[in-house]
Amino acid sequence: MFTPGVIDELKKIVGKDDVLTSPEELVCYSYDTTPFTHLPQAVVLPESTQEVSAILKLANQEKFPVTPRGASSNLSGGSVPVQGGVVMLMVRFNRVLEIDEENLTATVEPGVVLAQFHRAVEARGLFYPPDPASLSISTLGGNIGEGSGGPRCFKYGTTKDYVLGLEVVLPNGEVIWTGSKTVKNVSGYDLTHLLVGSEGTLGVVTKIIVKLIPLPEAKMTLLAIYDHIDDAAKTVSSIVARRIIPTTLELLDRATMELVEAYKPVGLPLDAEAVLLLEIDGSEAEVKRQASLVEEACRSCKAREVQVAKSKEESEQLWSARRSALAAVARGCVTLVIEDATVPRSAVPQFVRIIGELARKHHLRVPLLAHAGDGNMHPLVMTDFRDQEEMVRVDAFADELFRAALDLGGTLSGEHGIGTLKAKYLAWQFGPAGVEAMHAIKRALDPNNILNPGKIFANDLEGV
Ligand SMILES: Cc1cc2nc3c(=O)[nH]c(=O)nc-3n(C[C@H](O)[C@H](O)[C@H](O)COP(=O)(O)OP(=O)(O)OC[C@H]3O[C@@H](n4cnc5c(N)ncnc54)[C@H](O)[C@@H]3O)c2cc1C
Repeated sequence: MFTPGVIDELKKIVGKDDVLTSPEELVCYSYDTTPFTHLPQAVVLPESTQEVSAILKLANQEKFPVTPRGASSNLSGGSVPVQGGVVMLMVRFNRVLEIDEENLTATVEPGVVLAQFHRAVEARGLFYPPDPASLSISTLGGNIGEGSGGPRCFKYGTTKDYVLGLEVVLPNGEVIWTGSKTVKNVSGYDLTHLLVGSEGTLGVVTKIIVKLIPLPEAKMTLLAIYDHIDDAAKTVSSIVARRIIPTTLELLDRATMELVEAYKPVGLPLDAEAVLLLEIDGSEAEVKRQASLVEEACRSCKAREVQVAKSKEESEQLWSARRSALAAVARGCVTLVIEDATVPRSAVPQFVRIIGELARKHHLRVPLLAHAGDGNMHPLVMTDFRDQEEMVRVDAFADELFRAALDLGGTLSGEHGIGTLKAKYLAWQFGPAGVEAMHAIKRALDPNNILNPGKIFANDLEGV
């Protein structure tokens, strides 16, 4: 709990209108997309690096937690203030500061919404590939917090592959820059990439330098339709064997398609067991060449039909259906638990089978959505947190799912982070020594456990 006077101190730092304390306001910042909720004691909206620094210095002095927050669209509990204290809302940091066409970089503030940034760089013929399906709401600061991915990772990689440098306020309030505009940079420890994916636990990002690349000349969207999900899963290796890396390779099973069609009908084939939604980009000639090889790979894996989007509108319609998939599934249940287990690409067919078997074993409704090209599976567990008996089965499903992913050489999370949702599994992947190495970094940078406590580390969850 705050000592008396903290609210007044916060108001002195950011101004009285930028400290929210009424119960109605606080409740709006008590949740994200997960079932976790916790009320903060105050929400502050800083608008400068100096204000962020002053808030963190006060937090260390008065020992209250601070949870950075972008759009709160994360899927692992990252922005819920699970130990109360202050939510630091970063939406005022909303400017694209520079698009440097000579160095192919952009300098941007963390509260900028990703789709807005995409439009700004694409207007100059440039390209920033990371594209979490939440791009119309999520912020670059949140993307960095989670190390977000998205469909285009198959060819282009994730957020971490584009971040060159960060202005960061450390938990003690000191301001540092990591990295720079240079393509090469091996000076000292790579703090930039330590911070990407650190879930707001090691510093508050206040400026970001990202790498840009030229916007591809052409792109094409294809929809491959399968009677058996196994064949769709096998197509991933078949495409890679032809030395093709499509921009995206997304899998939707029938249950997902049914919910998408009920929400945003685009004519997905509901008599099929699965579809692959693919995009290829490059020069006009290269796109044509790759499209014919991709079609050949799909048909060799028994795709019953491969459709090509005939126009930009048709392609956008298919992608907007894909992007709406989580919302479509969420409409069908009280609680949606979105898993993120990821396996090496070669294990995709086996893992898809295991997910189906586990859903049947635990009597759960689990539509499947996958960035199949990355081996990144999103089993969507449709449940109701009020049903205690079902939640026990949901937990058992998750336990077996993560065991299976790790046994196949995979990881707990491909792009959604650990947060509170997966903290109890971290030691399964890294062992006690691996978790302790991470915790040692946290303790060194944040000895008072000010920044986003209760995330990533299970033994930090006490009191949640
Ligand atoms: C419909 C839907 C589709 C999605 N699709 C994808 C997808 O395809 N791929 C994917 O990877 N994710 C996806 N997500 C998850 C989510 O959108 C991403 O994790 C996103 O990057 C979160 O951004 P945000 O602005 O909402 O951040 P928040 O959820 O507010 O925060 C995320 C984390 O970053 C920290 N943080 C925020 N700002 C800062 C800052 N300035 N400095 C330090 N830490 C900070 C927070 O403390 C928190 O730990 C999806 C979510 C939804 C709801």
